[in-house]
Amino acid sequence: ADFSALPLAPELLANLEALGYQRMTPVQAEGLPPMLAGRDLIAQAQTGSGKTAAFGLGLLSRLEVTSFRVQALVLCPTRELADQVAEELRRLARLLANVKVLTLCGGAALGPQLSSLAHGAHIVVGTPGRVEEHLRKGSLNLRGLETLVLDEADRMLDMGFQTSLEAIVAETPPRRQTWLFSATYSEAVKAVAEALLREPARVEI
Ligand code: AMP
Repeated sequence: ADFSALPLAPELLANLEALGYQRMTPVQAEGLPPMLAGRDLIAQAQTGSGKTAAFGLGLLSRLEVTSFRVQALVLCPTRELADQVAEELRRLARLLANVKVLTLCGGAALGPQLSSLAHGAHIVVGTPGRVEEHLRKGSLNLRGLETLVLDEADRMLDMGFQTSLEAIVAETPPRRQTWLFSATYSEAVKAVAEALLREPARVEI
């Protein structure tokens, strides 16, 4: 199916055309309608499926660019993945004026992250440990969050991030939208999904 079948902003549609994204991948075709309708989502999808653009278009569609608060948080298992996700989000947001995407990952210096946070961001992409650290320090505020994305949830849980995830979620508003992406649907992923998602749409590709 074609992206123009979706209620996406004209800037996003024009950019997709410029990027050469002509047809939706299955995770986009099945996942975007419920995401755009305001629902929670569980998607079983591998790397290469186009999952980043799926949640990226979903969260960019909800963004209020004139409001400088963190509106979307994408949690990833590794810094490498967080960097790739941030790069794809910036590419997708190219024609939307002034969308600020910030990465917060462990292993990077804190100082620059603190000054970037002080300048404000719309979207934070990060690893759970470092995001939790910023919440504890008070340098990150998630009270105005609209969308929480757990990317590669199975890997985050395998890496022992469950407690960090819980601490982070506790700082977000209950009326957020939550989208969980995972390559596998283990018991641990199922438990997290049951705790965090409300009547999610399910996509298996
Ligand atoms: P991902 O599964 O998110 O890692 O994406 C895999 C690759 O597919 C990335 O390089 C994207 O830029 C690209 N991609 C995502 N969606 C589409 C699409 N609808 N058409 C063409 N390429 C896409």
